[in-house]
Amino acid sequence: LPQPYVPPEDSAVRVAVRARPLIEKEIVEKCQECVSYSQDGRQIVIGKDRRFTFDYVFPPAVGQEDVYNDCVKPLVESCIAGYNATVLAYGQTGSGKTHTMGCGNNTSLLEEELGILPRAIRQLYESIEERSNQAEFLVKCAFVEIYNEEVKDLLHPDTPSKLISIREDANGDIILAGVKEEVVTNFDSMIRFLEHGSVFRTTGSTLMNEQSSRSHAIFTMIVEQRLIQDNAVATDCITAKFHLVDLAGSERAKRTGAVGLRFKESVTINCGLLALGNVISALGDERKRGHHVPYRESKLTRLLQDSLGGNSRTCMIACISTADTNFEETLNTLKYANRAR
Ligand code: ADP
Ligand code: MG
Repeated sequence: LPQPYVPPEDSAVRVAVRARPLIEKEIVEKCQECVSYSQDGRQIVIGKDRRFTFDYVFPPAVGQEDVYNDCVKPLVESCIAGYNATVLAYGQTGSGKTHTMGCGNNTSLLEEELGILPRAIRQLYESIEERSNQAEFLVKCAFVEIYNEEVKDLLHPDTPSKLISIREDANGDIILAGVKEEVVTNFDSMIRFLEHGSVFRTTGSTLMNEQSSRSHAIFTMIVEQRLIQDNAVATDCITAKFHLVDLAGSERAKRTGAVGLRFKESVTINCGLLALGNVISALGDERKRGHHVPYRESKLTRLLQDSLGGNSRTCMIACISTADTNFEETLNTLKYANRAR
């Protein structure tokens, strides 16, 4: 490998909390902030005295670049070194998941406003450029969404979900059969696929947020490399996947006023997030006691199976609103994130 990389024993999963500033609507409604932060950047207190500790706590003033450098930069480096990685944005609708992940639409954004996705794509191509005399790279991307336990290919929306299945090969690698990966040769073309796929994301409206996203969106960069030694390209191919996941809103059905079809969706979404919580929590236990990791409980955890735990690196960014009107959901998010540690 170009650079020997060993994931640190104690940090297969890192957990960060990012608080967003009050939005205009909350300021107009005279919401108060209900959280405070410790000086060391590790602790957050909600209400009077409920204190939680995480790998990183980002107060509202922390910008996109700092979040990226702490949470994602090391994951792109390990991906280039041949290891799978996953970054997940968790939180209630309106807490800042999409703002944090960023989407394509980057020409209209200022540099400091760029989210994780365009920064990760840029870092990937910079690293590849730097290593062009050490290895030959082939980069592909895929973009899927999981909605009501069905996988949809966002880059090829005409593909029926029933033709897509999640399989495990003999090496334990997860394969999305029926999803077509696209070869990408530069930053601009990968951004175009990202933007193109974002258009097809399924959204539904709830009382809480018109744009509320009821689905998990998973953008995957696949990095294949063949090392160059003595002017010859090795036949062995090293493959690493990097999943960037904008999870469905974590809010409860009753909070959004959902009934009927929407209610069914909320229940399903909570099942995927529940399974993710169980997997991440079991990964912590596994290192101590060899617990079974329940990947098969949902499509989301099944799809991410080879990129959570093992040699791979994971960072979960729990996004929260600091407004007192969101106290219950914010507390729920902190409890969920705390369980993932
Ligand atoms: P989600 O994807 O979790 O539903 P969004 O990312 O759409 O939430 O964020 C909701 C609103 O809050 C948007 O208007 C977004 O621009 C704003 N927002 C979120 N996080 C931040 C932040 N860190 N700084 C400034 N505005 C933010
Ligand atoms: Mg969103």
